[in-house]
Amino acid sequence: MLKVEHIGIAVKNLNQSGALIGRLMGKGAYKTEVVQDEGVSTSFFKVGDTKIELLEATSPDSAIAKFIEKRGEGVHHIAFEVSDIEVEMKRLVGEGFDLIHKTPKKGADNKLICFLHPKSTNGILVELCQEIKEKE
Ligand code: ZN
Repeated sequence: MLKVEHIGIAVKNLNQSGALIGRLMGKGAYKTEVVQDEGVSTSFFKVGDTKIELLEATSPDSAIAKFIEKRGEGVHHIAFEVSDIEVEMKRLVGEGFDLIHKTPKKGADNKLICFLHPKSTNGILVELCQEIKEKE
């Protein structure tokens, strides 16, 4: 794993929380994006070499809506950047971790992503992400 790429925070209202985080960090979001497949709207804030990702559910059956219902707003996942997501997924399965999806998916911010099941990671939802490289 290369670094903590971002920390995901589940929020009820992206506009309100975005304004709050903007005040906290002294600068606004550099990107807002809807990921239809995941049922989320996201805003990204840069902090040094890493990012804060705010996530708001776009529908009541989104994973974020269910998370907030159960645990309230707050830290939702930690995302680690990897250079080759498929290799890392294989390595982690070999280490006994459970993947939520067996193949990488397209996530926000031009990334291939995959999640580890929190049951196998001490309750921490872990995301792996790999930058999608432009094909030349
Ligand atoms: Zn994320």
